[in-house]
Amino acid sequence: MHRLDILFPACCPICLKPVHPKGSFIHEACRRKLKFVESPFCMKCGRGIADEGAALCSSCKKGDFVFDSGRCTFAYHSDIGNAIKWVKDEGTREFIDFFGDTAAKRHETFLKAVKPEIIVPVPLSESRLRARGFNQSELFAESLAGVLGIPVGKLLKKVRNTRDQKGLNRRERTRNLAGAFEAVSCKEMPERVLLTDDIYTTGSTVNACAAVLKAAGVKEVYFICIAAGTADD
Ligand SMILES: [Zn+2]
Ligand SMILES: [Zn+2]
Repeated sequence: MHRLDILFPACCPICLKPVHPKGSFIHEACRRKLKFVESPFCMKCGRGIADEGAALCSSCKKGDFVFDSGRCTFAYHSDIGNAIKWVKDEGTREFIDFFGDTAAKRHETFLKAVKPEIIVPVPLSESRLRARGFNQSELFAESLAGVLGIPVGKLLKKVRNTRDQKGLNRRERTRNLAGAFEAVSCKEMPERVLLTDDIYTTGSTVNACAAVLKAAGVKEVYFICIAAGTADD
């Protein structure tokens, strides 16, 4: 079957079969298969942690990050990994809207507390954007922005291609991303920005973006990622 046939009209991000009634994002039975980041999670990076009594994961305790804090919606698992891959390959709108809607609901308290003025997607490089035709983090930002009533601002650009981060450790990732992002010059930078990205792995990407935004005058940088692995500590 052609992909477009199974993707039309709205299909479930887990089983890829049509969802009824119209306006629903996912079958109830499929929703029960989802794994969310649950408490305890790190109050700074938002990843699940093992220790009930800890407020921070070991990376955040070490002070590795310049971002203020963030939240991740799903604990990374294959069903969500596959749905994110569909979005990256096809720009599947209903999956993105499911991610945006779910993130807005799950992180309502966090979002009310941090009060972002603008949502900024983690950018792709020009050549990657041309090849893919869209930026999945921007689609996610637009969807979230639509639910929250906050504007999207492309305040960052990726000025060079970087190696695939897969298989690199945190230090290598940081080195790989050095100088890769720049802030777009604008008259007045907002005070509080919410970054969006698809998967939080070591935090190097959102941290590199936060560093650039802060150097350009943004005071507080928060983020929401669709999925994250658990903190490895
Ligand atoms: Zn389903
Ligand atoms: Zn953390």
